Amino acid sequence: MEVHNPATGEEVGRVTVDSADEVAAKVDRLRQHQPEWEAIGPAGRKRWLLKLQDWLIDNTDHLADVLQSETGKPRMDALIDPGFAVDLIGYYARRAGKFLADEHPSPHSPLARVKRLTTVYRPYPVVGVITPWNFPLAMPALDVIPALAAGAAVLLKPSEVTPLSALELARGWSEIGAPPVLSVSTGAAETGAAVVNTVDYVQFTGSTRTGRAIAAACAERLVPYSLELGGKDPALVLADADLDRAAYGIAFGGLFNAGQVCISVERVYVEAPVYDEFVTKLTEHVRELRQGADGRESRYDIGALASHAQRDVVTRHVDDAIAKGARAVTGGRPTGVGTFFEPTVLVDVDHGMACMTEETFGPTLPVMKVADEAEAVALANDSIYGLSASVWTGDRARGERIARQLDAGAVNVNDVFANLFNFALPMGGWQQSGVGARWGGAEGLRKYCRKQAVTAPILPTQQKELFWFPYSTRKLGFALTAMRAAGARGLRRLGVRDVINTVGGKGK
Ligand code: ADP
Repeated sequence: MEVHNPATGEEVGRVTVDSADEVAAKVDRLRQHQPEWEAIGPAGRKRWLLKLQDWLIDNTDHLADVLQSETGKPRMDALIDPGFAVDLIGYYARRAGKFLADEHPSPHSPLARVKRLTTVYRPYPVVGVITPWNFPLAMPALDVIPALAAGAAVLLKPSEVTPLSALELARGWSEIGAPPVLSVSTGAAETGAAVVNTVDYVQFTGSTRTGRAIAAACAERLVPYSLELGGKDPALVLADADLDRAAYGIAFGGLFNAGQVCISVERVYVEAPVYDEFVTKLTEHVRELRQGADGRESRYDIGALASHAQRDVVTRHVDDAIAKGARAVTGGRPTGVGTFFEPTVLVDVDHGMACMTEETFGPTLPVMKVADEAEAVALANDSIYGLSASVWTGDRARGERIARQLDAGAVNVNDVFANLFNFALPMGGWQQSGVGARWGGAEGLRKYCRKQAVTAPILPTQQKELFWFPYSTRKLGFALTAMRAAGARGLRRLGVRDVINTVGGKGK
């Protein structure tokens, strides 16, 4: 399979397409090595993960080169992926010991105090991670790192559009001499489906359509999954906001990585009193942005779209809006070179247009005037998606109050993407934006684990427990009375006779 630079059309690499048999062989090999990986524990795994971190730091420039070659991103965008992976490794490699430690919850009832209770976190043997093309190194790292830190082996299936960076990550893992618990299978949908059909847990990021197919396949096999899917993130600009910050922040939130970010700002609602001023500021700023393909020296803010198909989606959304009465106050067209599309601000838009309801994943910012906060909230929630949102206001308490009215997995007040840089928070979509979440502190590792309940006696044991054979109403009555006394309220706790009548005996 050929890999192309979308900015220039040049072929930059070739990868194999793994068949279902090849995927199965890789999973078998991972299964063989996983028990040892689990057995070395969080401290042993930390050593390897921190070596990978060093490797990422030492190879950052090369990794950014590879990433630029397959995405057409500007240098600054390409440097974010390795940096993000380094940060994430630091968090999970160092904290895995604490996050995965056995827990000894207190028994719920005095009757259970005779047992020591333990919750044990034991990894799924092989986790399949399937990733999209927008962050070819960071997307794999986001999920591969926590899964490895949890003690699972990982089979990574990167997007067929951008497989080269994922192969570099696997090369780094073997170059540092780490145990063979990370493999990559390249290929397209069929290879991805083979991964879903073989692994013990599926972590997927991509479109809602593919996510639904994967969920169905996982249900058939009864394996768990976590899905991060499409989004249509709203930004709500209130009249009391710092409009300069809102304009800069929303421009970045909508146009970073040419808008190819799952949590990019895809639609903007502005309270009427500040609408004109906000649109002027936003448009002026967007017009200043520099677009093009650079190399190691940073010269541009916005790069190419990842594929011709993606450029066509963006063109369709803008053309549809304009045909229905919207105006592009800046941008509005493909540049004519490679897959570039001009950074675009659309006004006079409404929810009858695809640009306000379907995921665009491009450098467009449709802006709509609203009467007030209530209308902004209602329109923001008028979506099948619910990944994230931002609220721009001079009053933090108001921002936090509005956050609680929005149907979205994350809300940033006076900022964009801030939740993404906080691994202590869960990142997950609501509604058709996903199932489950990544990260969220300890939960980010525990999701890759099967939870095992272990009980063991604390006190010396008798020959028989109260409930064991042969049955006796006296013994059962005693046990039920004790359960009722521990669990019920008021006089009901004391209903000893009721209990004995219930079991049909006379207290013999
Ligand atoms: P997008 O390219 O719009 O993100 P997808 O959601 O189709 O679209 O792709 C995300 C990832 O899912 C890619 O790695 C792709 O190869 C993979 N994929 C596509 N179809 C399937 C499928 N049926 N089963 C498993 N993986 C798939």
